[in-house]
Amino acid sequence: MSEAQHRFETLAVHAGEPRPPAGGSVVHPIYQGTVFETRPGDDYDDIQYIRLNTNPGQEYLHGKLAALEGAEAALATASGMAAITTTLLSLLAAGDHLIAAGAVYGGTRHFLTELAPRLGWHVDFVAPDDPEAWAEALRPNTKAFIVETISNPLARVADLVAIADFSREQGLASVIDNTFATPVVFRPHTIGFDLVCHSATKALNGHSDLVAGAITGTAERIGRIRAVLNLYGASLDPHAGFLLARGLKTLALRARQQNANALALARFLEGHNAIARVNYPGLDSHPDHARAAGLFDGGFGSVLSFRPAGGTPAAEAILATLALPYTAPSLGGVESLVTRPAVTSHAGMSAAERAVDGIDDDLVRFSCGIEATEDLVADFGAALEKAGA
Ligand SMILES: *Cc1c(COP(=O)(O)O)cnc(C)c1O
Repeated sequence: MSEAQHRFETLAVHAGEPRPPAGGSVVHPIYQGTVFETRPGDDYDDIQYIRLNTNPGQEYLHGKLAALEGAEAALATASGMAAITTTLLSLLAAGDHLIAAGAVYGGTRHFLTELAPRLGWHVDFVAPDDPEAWAEALRPNTKAFIVETISNPLARVADLVAIADFSREQGLASVIDNTFATPVVFRPHTIGFDLVCHSATKALNGHSDLVAGAITGTAERIGRIRAVLNLYGASLDPHAGFLLARGLKTLALRARQQNANALALARFLEGHNAIARVNYPGLDSHPDHARAAGLFDGGFGSVLSFRPAGGTPAAEAILATLALPYTAPSLGGVESLVTRPAVTSHAGMSAAERAVDGIDDDLVRFSCGIEATEDLVADFGAALEKAGA
């Protein structure tokens, strides 16, 4: 399909498809086979073998992922962490230095603090809003800068344009984890990010039933990352890839409903006297609202967080009383999820570290699903009343 002239919704359904379709099927088939016949004259690069990410189902998925981020090329991986670690493994060697935004996903932070030193990498965590701190962190061997579009769970939006510009000026590869935004909200390549990573386990698949990751960038950069992925081996299983491609077809519709739910809930909670503070970049009261409104064009994401006026007991009571959401971490699925980060995603940090990052004990994180807005708001209304919050 020629893709340049189509809009996001159309690309989500059709990008990556061979036309006429394989076997006449309107659904691109699952190619579960591990290996394909070679032809006379083929060399190593032509081999279609499952770990080498050249199975036709993998190639179809790559076409779709690249189109949705507006990139030349894409690579699917066995998890979001595989996307991040494989990307960094392609950029850094022993002795190299990485600049990382302070508030990155727990797994990424853990990798950078626990495993990166064993690989001989040096990592500096910087405030994502402080260009002077980035300049101070810079060393002759700095190779890359990594940041997230929307931070967890306070939903901060860093000065992403400045980070992309700084990286380009200093010759660093700029890497961004776009999981919380999704390409419906923001496409980081448009402001110059070199590599975009996703946990496709979240909104890209959207149905809370597989683990996968994705990386997009130029064909040259993705080619180098693919060579690393082929050797480290975190290639995506074709059946999960089939499910992910299916999930991607409805990404625009799902994300729009999730983002509308998040904005409506954030506004409802902000106006409720049992709630002390709401963190959502779609609210005027959010410190990064103006920046987010300038960068984003499809809503402000599906995740909000808040602090009840009654502190941790009220937070616990709300979690126990809400009827619709499951109490669980993760995000981006069709069902709403609610969690208290201090005892789940951020439990690995000490209370003092959490306090520095603004992860208070009574902070509640809500990941909106695609339920009816009115039902989610009504569920919160009833829970806040019943919990005496
Ligand atoms: C979940 C998540 C990851 C890790 O993804 P997995 O698929 O669990 O490996 C990375 N970054 C962000 C922002 C995430 O939410």
